[in-house]
Amino acid sequence: MEKEHRKLIIIGAGPAGLAAGIYAARAELNPLLFTGMVLYGQASVTETIENYPGFPKGIGGNDLGQTFQVQAERFGTEIEYKQVDCLNLDARPFEVSTYGKEYTADSIILATGADNRKLDVPGEVEFTGRGVSYCATCDGWFYKEKDIHVVGGGDSALEEAIFLTRFARSVTIIHRRDSLRAGVLLEKRARIDPKINFIWNTIVKEIQGQEKITNLVIQDLKTQETKTIPSEGVFIFIGHTPNSDLFKHQLAMSEDGTVLVDRTYQTSIPGVFAAGEICDPYFRQVVTSAGMGAAAAISAVRYLEEMACNTP
Ligand code: NAP
Repeated sequence: MEKEHRKLIIIGAGPAGLAAGIYAARAELNPLLFTGMVLYGQASVTETIENYPGFPKGIGGNDLGQTFQVQAERFGTEIEYKQVDCLNLDARPFEVSTYGKEYTADSIILATGADNRKLDVPGEVEFTGRGVSYCATCDGWFYKEKDIHVVGGGDSALEEAIFLTRFARSVTIIHRRDSLRAGVLLEKRARIDPKINFIWNTIVKEIQGQEKITNLVIQDLKTQETKTIPSEGVFIFIGHTPNSDLFKHQLAMSEDGTVLVDRTYQTSIPGVFAAGEICDPYFRQVVTSAGMGAAAAISAVRYLEEMACNTP
């Protein structure tokens, strides 16, 4: 099969990938960007983003993603609504396989983001979509006047719990410790919300139900006491897992699959860069991911310039 060659291929269409597209296209690299399954990444399921500079009244996550896309395409980023099936980072140029077409590239920016971490307890998989959810924006509406639970104690758990109070009768946050990881502002808002309650030092051991969920089996980690409580829905926000399976064993990564980069966002392989949540388990903001995307693209431009100078 004939392979199409590109100077730069970007994998991922979240804020990092699209910002990389804007910068790389403006440097006339004519980048090709593969979206994968989820356009605009996790931002796409965020109802309102209130902390992205330039939008003092906030903007919908999907709307913000669209503006990134329009801007990237305006300068010449080509967007393919396709999944990359296989990457060979040992080859030079790098090899990228998609359904029905093969590509080669002199440089690559990985911006595949991260996915919700799972509780890994009985009932979680069975009841996903029937009472178990990882997205308040997508599913909150189905829980009107219901008594529901949120698992986690970070910014996501609190932000989503506050959002869910628009629909639910009550939202009880189950957290495995007795203090929150979330920022003070969110904690303040959650603590004064009359619909929000907390269960501290507790983990969910099992999710039970029939057609839909009816109960959670929870365990108090201080007393070890286990009990069953009624629940009409459980939203799980316990962090994220990087989407790095595609390049596993090809690049240096931390134990949890976060791609390791240097300060120019270059990975352990020269010419392969990473940006956004695939390499950042810490900041995880639209603005920081977009910034990393821009930085990775600038680094790719410099790498390609050097490569051109060194090619006889
Ligand atoms: P996170 O900060 O890693 O918090 C995950 C929470 O889940 C922690 O409270 C953790 O408990 C708990 N947890 C982890 N594994 C668990 C398990 N197996 N069972 C029960 N509980 C478990 O994740 P996040 O809230 O998604 O936030 C990630 C990053 O994005 C953070 O840097 C955050 O600041 C940022 N973020 C910011 C905003 C915002 O600024 N508006 C919104 C969302 C996210 P422990 O506390 O005991 O570890």
